[in-house]
Amino acid sequence: VDNSGIQFTSEMEITLDGAMGSEEDIIRAMIVSTNKDYDGWDDKRDTGRLNRIIRDHHSSPFEMCEMRFIIEVPIFVVRELQRYRTANMNEMSGRYTELPPKFYIPKEENIRTQVGKPMSYEYEMVKSPLTRALVLSGFTEVIEHTWEEYQLMLLNGVARELARAILPLNIYTKLMWKNDLRNIVHFIVQRTHPSAMLEIRELATKMEEIVAKEFPRFYKLWVENGRQDL
Ligand SMILES: Cc1cc2nc3c(=O)[nH]c(=O)nc-3n(C[C@H](O)[C@H](O)[C@H](O)COP(=O)(O)OP(=O)(O)OC[C@H]3O[C@@H](n4cnc5c(N)ncnc54)[C@H](O)[C@@H]3O)c2cc1C
Repeated sequence: VDNSGIQFTSEMEITLDGAMGSEEDIIRAMIVSTNKDYDGWDDKRDTGRLNRIIRDHHSSPFEMCEMRFIIEVPIFVVRELQRYRTANMNEMSGRYTELPPKFYIPKEENIRTQVGKPMSYEYEMVKSPLTRALVLSGFTEVIEHTWEEYQLMLLNGVARELARAILPLNIYTKLMWKNDLRNIVHFIVQRTHPSAMLEIRELATKMEEIVAKEFPRFYKLWVENGRQDL
């Protein structure tokens, strides 16, 4: 069994695959209640309207905008991502395809220890070079060993759905994930919080950068209003 193709990485990858809606659509949804026609973006008036509904948590107009992402992260990150029930997702199947040999390995500076109590842990870098080396060799050995066993099973005709069960949580998976702007913001608020797991924080931060680019007028006001749930 050849192990040379294994990819070790610590990147959380996310790209925008499609988006629907704009700040104009948020305002249009808002003024449906008044049964008036919308005559297009008026900066002063509509910035005021947008600011008002962000500030007062009038959340449903933000559900009129949607974003669809392609996300490539390890399974232990998806375990957290998939808790967002308002999202739609489709994921690569370990039954229908042989999984690519791509595995998460932490950057040395992210090898951490937790201090404090459950629910309010803080994380500090592991100071001991010996422990950091132990972590890196532990990750590498398990990855190489399980990949070898996975390959051996496949070579001997074992079904992919069974062979994949020995692979570790740090193997990468790929998915399409779609949600509306209100619930994307909810994800970002929860998962960019300093108490969130570092790896999902990295994903959520990249998602926030995409939101900022896609909905700049909304993003500016949302930040000015304290970056809260809508
Ligand atoms: C720091 C942190 C630690 C966590 N630790 C754990 C853990 O140890 N174990 C664990 O299992 N989970 C854990 N979670 C996950 C958490 O419990 C939520 O499942 C996750 O954050 C998704 O949030 P949500 O339910 O608000 O989002 P979504 O599922 O997207 O829902 C969005 C909103 O829709 C509404 N909604 C959705 N479904 C329902 C429903 N069935 N009934 C009523 N309202 C609904 C709610 O208002 C909800 O806020 C943790 C989350 C965080 C941020």
